[in-house]
Amino acid sequence: MIAEALHKIKNEISSDVTLVAVSKTKPVSDIQIAYNAGQRIFGENKVQELAEKYEQLPRDIEWHLIGHLQTNKVKYVAEFVSLIHAVDSLKLLAEINKQALKHNRTISCLLQFHIADEESKFGLNLEEAREILSSNDFVEMQNISIVGVMGMATFTDNIEQIQEEFRTLENYFHVLKSHFFKYNGDFKEISMGMSGDYTLAIEEGSTMIRVGSSIFGGR
Ligand SMILES: *Cc1c(COP(=O)(O)O)cnc(C)c1O
Repeated sequence: MIAEALHKIKNEISSDVTLVAVSKTKPVSDIQIAYNAGQRIFGENKVQELAEKYEQLPRDIEWHLIGHLQTNKVKYVAEFVSLIHAVDSLKLLAEINKQALKHNRTISCLLQFHIADEESKFGLNLEEAREILSSNDFVEMQNISIVGVMGMATFTDNIEQIQEEFRTLENYFHVLKSHFFKYNGDFKEISMGMSGDYTLAIEEGSTMIRVGSSIFGGR
């Protein structure tokens, strides 16, 4: 089932869209099945779960942290995480930079934007992102690479609304690209789209989809 679902999605999407297989709450045996089917990029939303799975699984897996990250937990993933999707404050960036430096590496991050109309979701608005990126503190961070943006659409059946939210994120990406990353080829990712809306997201310019239940089944 897992391997079939994975192949089906892989066949649907173009090869320049990165598929992050979201394995949160699923056992390592499920991840191993997806790994054996060729998947190497996995996403988790909790630090502790991520760290435990990292210990048990092959070292060539690229682990993405997709959930909200508390500053005091950065240290548990700094050694190995390959992309942090949900960065939404300068304080968090400062801690990631500090921990990355300890491990003598650069950690790639996405800035998370609030695009949904739901209160509960984390994320920046464009003005806050501009403030962060133009601050001296940020400019001095040597061990962080901001490689793009991330967002989650509202959980709704209203396709036009979802489209509009994805368009907003795509627009933010271009605004930031032209103001802050014009000559930085690493800033290229738009992480948007989950099981229910990844087709829409790709139509609106997503370069990275985060798909869980369509691969591993419901949670
Ligand atoms: C759980 C989760 C996903 C995947 O959701 P599915 O609907 O199972 O595909 C994607 N992104 C984030 C941030 C998540 O927490």
